[in-house]
Amino acid sequence: MLVETTAGEPHVSIRIDDQSAVAFADTNNAVSILLALLRSSSVIADVEICSHQFSCSNQLAHNQVAIKIRPKKLTSYPHQLGQAFQVGTRGCLATIYAPAVVEPADRAGVPRSAVLGYTLVHEVSHLLGLSHAPSGVMKEGLDVSDYRKMPSGDLRFSEEARQLIWAGALGRAGKDTAVSRPLIFLPVTP
Ligand SMILES: [Zn+2]
Repeated sequence: MLVETTAGEPHVSIRIDDQSAVAFADTNNAVSILLALLRSSSVIADVEICSHQFSCSNQLAHNQVAIKIRPKKLTSYPHQLGQAFQVGTRGCLATIYAPAVVEPADRAGVPRSAVLGYTLVHEVSHLLGLSHAPSGVMKEGLDVSDYRKMPSGDLRFSEEARQLIWAGALGRAGKDTAVSRPLIFLPVTP
């Protein structure tokens, strides 16, 4: 759930449903990157990682977001790391395609968990209303130099992006948390 804290730091709740069979070596590291980058925008997040498939409730509160990590690439765009589903300027559900995260990480010689962490924060940022930017976390179409910045934390939000993500999270804080919407978790196809 999202709540506005007294410090003016909106709180976002993120559910990660990992359906992939891919070992990211250190999912906690990916989550740490996600939390740290959101924190750089003064957004406080908590993360719930669901075990395979349907262990979570299939209802999302209005102000929660969910990320599915799928075991296959997107057929039509095999190099696409993830995709956020937005209605208007924000959404509640994004998908990450695990093999499309692993391959460039291995090619660039960086930890898979670092690329997963940046992909998580990129997609969560879309759900909070951010669009693409020419550089930084919201860049579309990463190259090897971007991947190599990830382990050291040198891929960041621009100042404008930080303000927008904070505003996006804060904008949800006043929503009625009692309203829930159905969230359909698609079964994993072979
Ligand atoms: Zn994007």
